[in-house]
Amino acid sequence: MLYKRIRYVVRFKGAYSEFFRALAGILIGDPASPALWNLFFADFFLAPHADDVWLAGLHVPYLAQADDIILLSHSAAGLQVKLDALLSWCERNGLTINVLKSFVMVFGPLPAVRPHLSIRDTELPIVESTVYVGVTLTSTARNIFHAHRVAQAAKARKVANAALGLESYLGRIPPQVARTLYTARVDPHLVSACTIDLDVDAASLQPLKQVQLTFVRRVLRLPAQSSVLAPLLDLGLWPLRYRRCHLAIAYARYLLTSPAQVPRAAFQASVQLAVAGHPTWLTDLKHALAALPCPVRFDYPWATMSVDHVDELSRALQASLCAYVTEHVHTSRKLTVWQNALLPLVPASASPAALFTSAPYLVLADPEQRANMSRLLAGIPPYAIEYLRRLAVPVEWRICRLCRREGVIEDEQHVLFECPDPVLHTARHEMYAAIVATHPRWLRHRQRDNNWVFFGRALRDKDTVAMVADFVAVTFQRCYAVPVVHIVSDEHLRRVTGAGRDM
Ligand SMILES: [Zn+2]
Repeated sequence: MLYKRIRYVVRFKGAYSEFFRALAGILIGDPASPALWNLFFADFFLAPHADDVWLAGLHVPYLAQADDIILLSHSAAGLQVKLDALLSWCERNGLTINVLKSFVMVFGPLPAVRPHLSIRDTELPIVESTVYVGVTLTSTARNIFHAHRVAQAAKARKVANAALGLESYLGRIPPQVARTLYTARVDPHLVSACTIDLDVDAASLQPLKQVQLTFVRRVLRLPAQSSVLAPLLDLGLWPLRYRRCHLAIAYARYLLTSPAQVPRAAFQASVQLAVAGHPTWLTDLKHALAALPCPVRFDYPWATMSVDHVDELSRALQASLCAYVTEHVHTSRKLTVWQNALLPLVPASASPAALFTSAPYLVLADPEQRANMSRLLAGIPPYAIEYLRRLAVPVEWRICRLCRREGVIEDEQHVLFECPDPVLHTARHEMYAAIVATHPRWLRHRQRDNNWVFFGRALRDKDTVAMVADFVAVTFQRCYAVPVVHIVSDEHLRRVTGAGRDM
């Protein structure tokens, strides 16, 4: 009846199309479909059995996602009773079970005698792995979601490669667009099932994490071994481990507050198991939080877990992320610009949102300028301090190629603010003049801030970032134009810097 009479109309920006009919397809995605199915299925009843599954006092004989049904039992005999009851209900209601899509899975120790389970006379195969509601479950692996992680990493990698592969047809994809593609098409695979499959060990997260890192590095034109954190900070994306934990905590909140009976019962069952000293979802969450780079303590009494505890946990996770960023930046030998220019602008009490913001340089029109900026922020500019680090040259020998003075290292501070090279000096002066012309009130900052902080301020401002990028481009060009000084001995250093003084 529904399909016979149905007519469609399209509404777009307040205007309506003519009515039309669709003669193919079904109402997938229409909320009417599962609602109607649930009404139809409402009289399906399974009589209690001694081997039934109970969750914290709630009888759970089956799970169903519309007509995708899992029958549950602790025994083969109990399961056969349920299969027969389902078959009987289907026959009474004019439905046929798709036997070819029906399987048996055995969780826990395998029985000594292989169980025989059937629908009518067709024996059902016992499988080790199957997909239910988009999640691959494996009964023979230590982590039942292991295959799911592997599959999701492969899907995410494929989508990420396809998204960035568009560049060979369309030209460079602007980082903002790439970020949207990542959020919409890659991230859902990377966080799939993360609320139930918690990251208790780093190794199993690695394939998923690698997809995120490869993507963000490629978007920002950074080499494979560059900083893991800088591109994520620039694009405003949380490290995957933190993102997954954040969603898991949000899920705990849902479990505590959901009006749905089964999720609440599952949470209570998890609490009971944890109280009894068994490994369970809650203890996994505890391990996952303890394994973060800045561990988060989760030692509330299980039995009295409340929404307030979960909210506290969420805040602790965010504080951990901020602490991780701060510690990583401060201990890094490379993230000099973050250390001196950007982090000082973020209040100590700031939330992750203040750190993980889309960097203004991402909207620069020139891809080369964007690439220069991401290299500078990731600590891999072409300056001698970094270039000669890769060749294991002692720091004191990495002298400035432009002014060649003893003790003057060609690092970010020297190149950006101090080097007297005439080309840099002029470009630097022009940058400051342009910034102050754009924001006359910043003259006061120019006089009061140290060079780094003023630089960071301009770097974080959408109206002045292009001026910073112009100057940074000049510093890069100077490095490409003038060969680096390869000092081979202290005597050589004295000769070279002596020559510099004579210049
Ligand atoms: Zn110099």
